[in-house]
Amino acid sequence: MTQADPVALARDLLRCPSVTPAEGGALAFMENVLKGAGFTVHRVTFEEPGTDPIENLYARIGTEMPHLMFAGHTDVVPPGPEANWSHPPFASEIANGILYGRGAVDMKGSIACKMAAVLDYLAENGGTPKGSISFLITGDEESIAVNGTIKLLKWCAERGETFSHAILGEPTNPAKLGDMIKIGRRGSQNGTLVVTGTQGHVAYPELADNPVRGITAIMHAINAETLDAGTEHFGPSNLEFTSIDIGNKTVNLIPAEARARFNIRFNDIRTRAELREEVERRVAKAAGNSVRWHIDWEPSNSDVFLTAPGPFVAMISKVVAEVTGITPELSTTGGTSDARFIKDYCPVIEFGLMNGCAHKVDEHVATADLVALTAIYRRVLDRYFGS
Ligand SMILES: [Zn+2]
Repeated sequence: MTQADPVALARDLLRCPSVTPAEGGALAFMENVLKGAGFTVHRVTFEEPGTDPIENLYARIGTEMPHLMFAGHTDVVPPGPEANWSHPPFASEIANGILYGRGAVDMKGSIACKMAAVLDYLAENGGTPKGSISFLITGDEESIAVNGTIKLLKWCAERGETFSHAILGEPTNPAKLGDMIKIGRRGSQNGTLVVTGTQGHVAYPELADNPVRGITAIMHAINAETLDAGTEHFGPSNLEFTSIDIGNKTVNLIPAEARARFNIRFNDIRTRAELREEVERRVAKAAGNSVRWHIDWEPSNSDVFLTAPGPFVAMISKVVAEVTGITPELSTTGGTSDARFIKDYCPVIEFGLMNGCAHKVDEHVATADLVALTAIYRRVLDRYFGS
């Protein structure tokens, strides 16, 4: 029997207008609930030049290992014009068993489920876990993510905090609760290919050097071969050109420069450095001595990671199957998440609600799914701490 009500907790969280970088009352609400359950709660603000200060929360109960971390974010993306919503984005209305609001699935809903599961577990186990449970919650995930999880983890490490495992509550399921657990994420790298020529009149091409010829040949050569065939848990690494920028409005003018932006999503047999070398090798070969080029590589903190299937992943997988009747796919698809930072401190998996309506108008969640996800987290706590 679940005593704490995940639907009530979710409704309270959804009423907080916590559009990044605003705290919106969401962390204050969590602090209140978790303090009431015996957690030691820290509210930590991080900032750096040129960014908004962002509030974060770290709460722990217990002093022993193992230490299970529930990670997540309370910030949400802007709702857009309220008139487009059939229920106002921060009104937290329920209609026909569906709870509406910005953050319903991404990811206040799953945070509410985690809190409800933990409150219930503590109530049934004399108020303390057989180990430690923590909440590591940021208000900076949806934007540039520099004053959030990455800094909060470092702050924890400096205080001597160590973690055994983490569950991040991002929405992971494509269609039904139970579809998918994320056990890794691809790495990401942006770059801009720049080809320099010599400006001139189209009627006198021998007096100019057209960079458009060079850049199209190089782009073709880069994409002529795949980067790799994929690995056991990942699809193939992929380079996708996303924009070609010349900006030449004059039809009889050969431009001086052409640029092409691209993004690489890479799997667990590649490293950032080695991928850069491979792309530059392909460009050099296609360019020969006749095309002048360089690549501007953007700094990135999106590394590939994999939490290899083992007892922790198997236990969660089994619990999901028991509660939902669906054996979840173990996936590494999708964009980056804060798991890319957590993986440096402990093994991390992601399991939450459905991702179909995340960031959309009328974001919503079935209250039945909140109850089911709470049951999953609740059972995970029993198995993890060996009740
Ligand atoms: Zn999210």
